[in-house]
Amino acid sequence: MYYLTVETSLDAAHFLSGYQGKCQNIHGHQWKIIVTIKSSDLIKEGPCTDMVVDFKELKAIVKKEVDYFDHSLIIKKGSLDQRALESLSNFLIRELDFQPTAERLAYYFYHQIKSHGLDVDQVAIYETPANQAIYKEA
Ligand SMILES: [Zn+2]
Repeated sequence: MYYLTVETSLDAAHFLSGYQGKCQNIHGHQWKIIVTIKSSDLIKEGPCTDMVVDFKELKAIVKKEVDYFDHSLIIKKGSLDQRALESLSNFLIRELDFQPTAERLAYYFYHQIKSHGLDVDQVAIYETPANQAIYKEA
């Protein structure tokens, strides 16, 4: 089996609605996102012979998915009331159907990248240099 790994980062804010502790406040992270894809075969002909996929192509897919959130405020839909949302109208807000934890973001990116036809092995997200969440299928 061959594995390719690319890494990128994301600067964004989030908060955890209902959580009790520091993370109930809006705060930022520089998330590090590490995506690994796998394949038992290599491309057999053409300019990408003997590659799983061109790194350039893989990086472009990961960057596109991650950049959607760059410098945004990532929230769970409904976790800020309408007045609060209106008062933040100049902010880039990305609403998700789930709590924006590192775990759920890893799960989200796993499936987003898989939707590009890649066989994703795992997605790892560092929320801080010491805290990492990984999603992979068992
Ligand atoms: Zn956080």
